[in-house]
Amino acid sequence: MTDLPFLPFALPDLGDDEIAEVVDTLKSGWITTGPKAKRFEQAFADFLGDPQIECIAVNSATAGLHLALEAIGLAPGDEVITTTHTFTATAEVVRYLGADVKLVDIDPATLNIDIAAIEAAITPKTRAILPVHYAGLAVDMLAILDIARRHGLRVIEDAAHALPTTLEKELIGTLGSDATVFSFYANKTMTTGEGGMLVTRNAELAKRARVMRLHGMSRDAFDRFTAKVPSWYYEIVAPGFKYNLTDIAAALGLHQLKRLPGFQLRREQIARRYHEAFADLPLILPPDAPAGDTHSWHLYVVRLSDDAAITRDAFIEGMYAAGIGCSVHYVPLHLHPYWRDRYGLTPEQFPHSQKAYERTVSLPLYTAMSDADVERVVASVRGMFV
Ligand SMILES: *Cc1c(COP(=O)(O)O)cnc(C)c1O
Repeated sequence: MTDLPFLPFALPDLGDDEIAEVVDTLKSGWITTGPKAKRFEQAFADFLGDPQIECIAVNSATAGLHLALEAIGLAPGDEVITTTHTFTATAEVVRYLGADVKLVDIDPATLNIDIAAIEAAITPKTRAILPVHYAGLAVDMLAILDIARRHGLRVIEDAAHALPTTLEKELIGTLGSDATVFSFYANKTMTTGEGGMLVTRNAELAKRARVMRLHGMSRDAFDRFTAKVPSWYYEIVAPGFKYNLTDIAAALGLHQLKRLPGFQLRREQIARRYHEAFADLPLILPPDAPAGDTHSWHLYVVRLSDDAAITRDAFIEGMYAAGIGCSVHYVPLHLHPYWRDRYGLTPEQFPHSQKAYERTVSLPLYTAMSDADVERVVASVRGMFV
């Protein structure tokens, strides 16, 4: 038991600039998608550093993934290969379009999708691969892009954890996939409360996603008030969705994006401290990015070693008793009733994900933590093994 206040698993880090920008938006008279959403898209494109890349702001990463899959024409009868070790949003978007999900196991070293398992899961119905950069460590995209090229498949990256993450010094979002989707959900590495960004070099895909983002209108609300065509005129070209990002959210994003490099440094610093403090414990610590590359450290996931004398559940209970919130990423999809029953899945089909699930704990790691908070986590984790 502890007298200290509860230390939550995650908290956003919103400063005075974010708050002032939201207030400015509220006073401006334009609170939904408008000039700030446009500026945020531009700033995100500048951040990625490639003028060929189009950025499409959306109200969640789930929405962005749905739009990307819709734009490649995913349809009933198609299959998409993804990892079982992810959040359900990664896979549910495939079902939105009536296509089927082929879940595969992970590489136990990284907890990222197993490259060999992707290749083994390909059938004549396979249309796309949907990798997740788990915890913020890049998937081997070169291998995935190679498989996609050889089999004529599309690749959509779920980069909800991977901002900023690099692979061979290139930012995730700038590699050669069809589209990459980032999340600005409240606990992600930067936040707009709810929000996401779909990025792509494919101009056709971008055009379709922009139209489908707002009801299938031939142009968005902001353009209607700046173009020469009468301001009231629009055309519906498809039954689209309501996935636009508000200017209130974009106001947060503009400042969070500026702070992102600093956020990453602080996350890295906390990860280093955990690495050093836990090195002698019966824990498998999360792998670093290869030398010269960036890990976003969205999550710090430890696994109890086979010789640890404590169970995962007892570990998390002990941390709660010490006033510290932990989490588990993830209850793998193959264990959830919907996915299990729809595809007749069993744990034996996913031995690495299953074992990881039974032994993983995600520790608090976020920029609003003080050094004292970090040391509290260190002491409590060490206390679980005495
Ligand atoms: C958070 C998350 C999502 C969904 O992001 P939203 O912005 O909340 O829609 C998708 N995939 C993964 C792996 C996530 O962690």
